[in-house]
Amino acid sequence: MITESNLQAESAIARDVVPAGDYYLKTVKAGQTFRILDLEGNQAADTLFYNANDIAERYSAMDTIREQGNVYLTAGTQLISNFGHTMLTIVADTCGRHDTLGGACASESNTVRYDLEKRCMHACRDSWMLAIAENETLGLNKRDITHNINFFMNVPVTAEGGLTFEDGISAAGKYVELLAAMDVIVLISNCPQLNNPCNGYNPTPVEVLVWDA
Ligand SMILES: [Zn+2]
Repeated sequence: MITESNLQAESAIARDVVPAGDYYLKTVKAGQTFRILDLEGNQAADTLFYNANDIAERYSAMDTIREQGNVYLTAGTQLISNFGHTMLTIVADTCGRHDTLGGACASESNTVRYDLEKRCMHACRDSWMLAIAENETLGLNKRDITHNINFFMNVPVTAEGGLTFEDGISAAGKYVELLAAMDVIVLISNCPQLNNPCNGYNPTPVEVLVWDA
């Protein structure tokens, strides 16, 4: 569902450009809103969420899908945790829908799906691992890398239940905006994938903006 935001970029309290292949790791407080802006279009932002006060609580794809009765995420979607709580709500979305079925790229999946030679290509899982290694005080380890959302990624489900990675439906300037219902650790891998169309074969930066309540 296309829903535009009333928030102005000039009033944001933080703005960070995240290059393709890099990560974004920040805590967004309850009541704050943040936006992921697809600067150049067709870019997947692979995102994990944790309760900042109890990292055992994190985003759950299955609880989110079941509670809303739909596999696509868009404006109005409540992102539900493994404890059944609303962590965030998507309050604006100019892309239209986002994926939470496709998972994130890893060197292992690149090797299996594409070629043995792809094993050393940078992948989202590497960025998340680097993020948690460089931020040890959060207490996250690789067992905490679980369900993710692929903002802007197009993974249509066919009538028969088929799943494919398709060319993106996002474009330069499209964004998704989320209101935090609790203090949330936001961990984004700005996807470096080059083997499928999720980034239009040309990974590009995204920008993350945060507003106070
Ligand atoms: Zn990726």
